Amino acid sequence: MFTMIKELPEANNFIEQIINDEISSGKVQEVYTRFPPEPNGYLHIGHAKSLCLNFGVKEKYNGKCNLFLDDTNPSKEKEEYEEAIKKDIAWLGFEYDKITHASDFYDKIYEFAEQEIMMGNAFVCDMTPEEISANRGTLTEAGKESPYRGRSIEENLKLFREMKAGLYPDGSKCLRAKIDMSSPNINMRDPVIYRILREKHYRTGDKWCIYPMYDFAHPICDYLQGVSFSLCTLEFEDHRPLYDWVGITLGFNPKPRQIEFARLNITNLVMSKRYLKKLVEEGSVDGWDDPRMPTLTGLRSRGVPAEALKDFCGRIGIAKANSEVQISYLEACIREYLNANAERAMGVLKPLKLTITNYPDGKTEEVDFDINPNEEIKRTRKITFSKHLYIDADDFSLNPPPKYFRLKKDGYVRLKSAYIVKCDDVILDDNGEPVEILCSYIKESKSGNDTSGIKVKGVIQWVDEATSADIEIRKYGYLLKDEEYAGQDFSERMNADSLKIFNGKVEPYVLNNGDIPYQLMRTGYFKLLDVKGKTVLSEIVSLKDNFNK
Ligand code: ATP
Ligand code: MG
Repeated sequence: MFTMIKELPEANNFIEQIINDEISSGKVQEVYTRFPPEPNGYLHIGHAKSLCLNFGVKEKYNGKCNLFLDDTNPSKEKEEYEEAIKKDIAWLGFEYDKITHASDFYDKIYEFAEQEIMMGNAFVCDMTPEEISANRGTLTEAGKESPYRGRSIEENLKLFREMKAGLYPDGSKCLRAKIDMSSPNINMRDPVIYRILREKHYRTGDKWCIYPMYDFAHPICDYLQGVSFSLCTLEFEDHRPLYDWVGITLGFNPKPRQIEFARLNITNLVMSKRYLKKLVEEGSVDGWDDPRMPTLTGLRSRGVPAEALKDFCGRIGIAKANSEVQISYLEACIREYLNANAERAMGVLKPLKLTITNYPDGKTEEVDFDINPNEEIKRTRKITFSKHLYIDADDFSLNPPPKYFRLKKDGYVRLKSAYIVKCDDVILDDNGEPVEILCSYIKESKSGNDTSGIKVKGVIQWVDEATSADIEIRKYGYLLKDEEYAGQDFSERMNADSLKIFNGKVEPYVLNNGDIPYQLMRTGYFKLLDVKGKTVLSEIVSLKDNFNK
């Protein structure tokens, strides 16, 4: 036993400190956690924080962690959500020891409820939900005791069994814990622990017409699974006395310990399942997996690497006080990962034709292109270069400001991995917009073998007209407008302009390589995405913080 204390790892947050203390004092032998989503929607980044915490503790203490589906509310829960939750957890690479459901324990929870009745700790109340809530009192005023509070144990047991047998209509009776109507904590004022509800449950069907309330079911399920640390977010802090009351009255030993931590909030993101569901139902987004959604399925289809997300969760840490993390911090974590890992490729969002007048007609050569300059062992691949190219329209200016290093009339620029070109002339359309740039190239300036002696400050990307492919390129803004709107209703903060579509061009390599992320040179990180049967190139994250307010 004492060898255990010697092996305690260093605590990196207050929860690990508590765990260390409980192990040292001998109260806890096995560290067992659970991740407890309600299968009423898809997981979001906030859940990733909870997942990283629960599975992180499991790994650190060589313990266990269950996926516990908290399915006590049959009107909102679905198999579809449970399956999505499992898929998301697998994507993050976490392995749970068991999958459990509150509904797996319904028989046991019912037995514990009878025990509470037999100990005189619970009573059947005939007040309606409205009456109960009207008599609950306020923060400054005690509540009123129910007139049914004095029922005998025998009568309570008989009525509770009749509730279970389906003798009473929904909402006509409930089972309440008998605690203290004058407790300063409203959750302790004879809370409802079972209700009558005729609703088909996605797992137990019509077997039950009474369902336990979360506050009663949760400590029991934790205990029955052998959970030692029940980690949840701060809004459950006021429920902890009730959590403990259940454990104490039912004599749980060892009793699981609930510890609360701060929720993750990120600027410009909605993190409530309820609201995310609204966005999906109203069609503001293309579904739960829309790349703009902060859901794990959305982030996955966006191309955010699971490793980058876990890295982010690790870096923000676990605290006891709520706060808001800047979205730019999440983006920086994604960018850092992709910078090290994503292949580079050529593509242009707004193709502008560039013709090299002194380059031989019909000639094609191959130039060497760095796959990722950050790799220790340099790898290159060939890309084709010829007389007719496209550059990005934003890399040419008719009225360049001072220190403009991209292409301008009579200016020089290097075409990435290829030659230096000089702009000799510009062909304009009727509106005065450039439609074609006429250049000459410096033959001796080929990248890797440049003997021209010409120094240029600008390097721009391009694609070869003959081999490039047309593709729709999508860039995204945030779903929510900036912090200045914080506190306002989500619907007023919606950014109607969160999708930008470009008819771009890419080198063919990008289309024939499967599902990998690319850095389009000087543009951002992208991946292919199927949008209703159409392949588009979809932004993962911009290269720089380019959010326009
Ligand atoms: P929502 O309020 O969005 O519906 P929820 O809390 O109801 O979320 P659950 O499915 O009950 O979602 O959550 C499962 C677990 O994930 C809980 O332990 C919950 O505390 C935790 N969790 C939910 N949202 C966050 C968040 N933003 N940050 C950290 N943990 C979270
Ligand atoms: Mg919840």
